[in-house]
Amino acid sequence: MTIGRFAPSPTGILHLGNLRTALASWLSARAAGGRWLVRMEDVDGPRCRWDLGEAQLRDLAALGLESDGPVVWQSGRLADYQAALVALHAAGRLYPCACTRKDLQLLASAPHAEDGLRPYPGRCRGRAWERFEQALRLRLPEGAMAWEDRLLGPQTDDPATLTGDPLLFRRDGCFAYHLAVVVDDGAQGITEVVRGADLRPVTATQIRLQEALGLPRPDYAHLGLVVAPDGSRLGKRAGGLGLEALAARGVSSAEVLGWLGWSLGCLERPEACRSEELIQAFDWAGAPKGEVRVPEAWA
Ligand SMILES: [Zn+2]
Repeated sequence: MTIGRFAPSPTGILHLGNLRTALASWLSARAAGGRWLVRMEDVDGPRCRWDLGEAQLRDLAALGLESDGPVVWQSGRLADYQAALVALHAAGRLYPCACTRKDLQLLASAPHAEDGLRPYPGRCRGRAWERFEQALRLRLPEGAMAWEDRLLGPQTDDPATLTGDPLLFRRDGCFAYHLAVVVDDGAQGITEVVRGADLRPVTATQIRLQEALGLPRPDYAHLGLVVAPDGSRLGKRAGGLGLEALAARGVSSAEVLGWLGWSLGCLERPEACRSEELIQAFDWAGAPKGEVRVPEAWA
């Protein structure tokens, strides 16, 4: 049984890029006759807000996208993340990292630094274990690995050059994103992960973490980002591209859904529709791989 998921962080509104990912993940699960779950990734400290998560769920419902099970909030799952850390420590895979943010910036000479992605160079690998109240990193195995993207095809990545040993537990006492996402995908039995291309470079690292925890590998599909009409990153403009802001300019949820469905290759023209009407036409083989530009009239 296919089980897909959409996992936003409740730190702002869902803009067109987020909504497109939500719809694609829903369509992929529905087209396979499977289930679709929503998970709130709210372990990232004070920027996460309960009310923003509720607003996101309302926007998803307005598009006809509702979780087939209870919405999981990661802040309620800390015991599972702690258990995963204990297991990784027992397997000798964790080491404490004493690097400050400044240390890491000075060390970063990486080819990917311009993307904001700075691989950790393993500076603390030889550091002795003291206790769980430290920043903790996963010791990755050496070498590149192959994985398959349902949209982009076969991929080969060396996690060492993309992320380096990932941080799993932060000095401020928070569990890190990579740990929470991998543990939850495993616990929820997720079989396919559909998300934005900005997360493609961390996929091999997350697969290595799955392997370390003995979890199965889901299928992956990474969607091109939604960009401004001139092809530039949306940045702050994304805030004006949520359902509420678009409705204030006379664009209905059904029209947004039609545009999203068209952008995924389900419709010949962007025209108002309901989510169910898109299921039959959805096919990864026909979905565009590249970036998608917001309509001029909406930007
Ligand atoms: Zn370090």
